[in-house]
Amino acid sequence: MRRLRFPALAAVLLFAAAPVPAQTAAPSKTGASKTGTAKSASSKSAVSKSAAPRPAPEPVGITPEMRIVAAHITANALRGHVSFLASDLLEGRDTPSRGLDVAGEYIAAQFRRFGLEPGGDDGYFQTVTLKPDDPDSPKSRNVAGILRGSDPALRETYVLLSSHYDHVGLAKGGADLVFNGANDDASGTASVLESAYALASLHPRPRRSVVFVLFCGEEKGLLGSKYYARHPVVPLEKTIAHLNLEQMGRTDSSQGPQLNSANVTGFDFSDIPKLLVDSGRRIGVTVSKVDKAGDDYFNRSDNGPLAIAGVPAHTMSVTYGFPDYHKPGDEWQKLDYDNMAKVTQAVGIGMLRLAQAVTAPKWSETYAPAKAYVEAGRKLNGK
Ligand SMILES: [Zn+2]
Repeated sequence: MRRLRFPALAAVLLFAAAPVPAQTAAPSKTGASKTGTAKSASSKSAVSKSAAPRPAPEPVGITPEMRIVAAHITANALRGHVSFLASDLLEGRDTPSRGLDVAGEYIAAQFRRFGLEPGGDDGYFQTVTLKPDDPDSPKSRNVAGILRGSDPALRETYVLLSSHYDHVGLAKGGADLVFNGANDDASGTASVLESAYALASLHPRPRRSVVFVLFCGEEKGLLGSKYYARHPVVPLEKTIAHLNLEQMGRTDSSQGPQLNSANVTGFDFSDIPKLLVDSGRRIGVTVSKVDKAGDDYFNRSDNGPLAIAGVPAHTMSVTYGFPDYHKPGDEWQKLDYDNMAKVTQAVGIGMLRLAQAVTAPKWSETYAPAKAYVEAGRKLNGK
């Protein structure tokens, strides 16, 4: 069966005209998750080999354009990005630092390669004042690129995909001085990049425009995303949805192995998570609530400042707690890139659907904890 496998674009295009029926067969005991993790073995990775993977859920129907998006997102491309961004030479990508600047140049180079429009005040770079009230404030940079939509009526509306590309820098002492920040959050950055590549490969392009932003300063208190919410590169009232990505690569969660699955914060706050659940199903990824902590996490990532401004915004992640969290051992060799590719394919499909949908997602009017966001959304839209 061709479920879960995207061997080559040629083959994909060959099959593209044929609708895929809903799968009814029972999941195989030697499911795709097993072959997936076996391939990602590396000297430092004892991560998921010992895990008992849950069977991948059976994919439901997938459209030809979803298939093209998924085919463009590969484990090797993700591995390439993370291994560079999390290398010792970038010295932990502190905000601000030379290592972070190099990472920003790398991201801008990828945007150039995908043919995105520059979204910043300096090409792809948005200059960020790190202390807004201080005239001598240090500065850093968000990196923003825009894939212009194809629909004359919808192209001036936007969906936003983001992660943070900074981390916590260098340790003061010890054997390993570099906080590499591979899973946190070179992984999210790589997933944003490959989602951009995949969506930019579509002809025609998605109907709405898609904005890709890599934030600086998350580890210093969401500085890049707070700045963005005050100085958006496209109007916030025209930004219909925001998805932020965190910790996409490690599957060895403190809560047990996380294969073929992802979580969304603030699950009941808006329509977006349910669309992501359905998008995940198309590719065999279970998207779910972050148990009881989900609402607590809602404001602690870069979706927070956008949500407070009224834009329906969530963070997706494979794991929240993992053994090397904010330690020098968060290195690129420990990520499961096959699993990460699958989850990123679900992200790409979700972004595609948001960008194609005529109806914009809404905050949940009936869920009490979302009340402040419902109000902010009304205010943003002048209602
Ligand atoms: Zn992070």
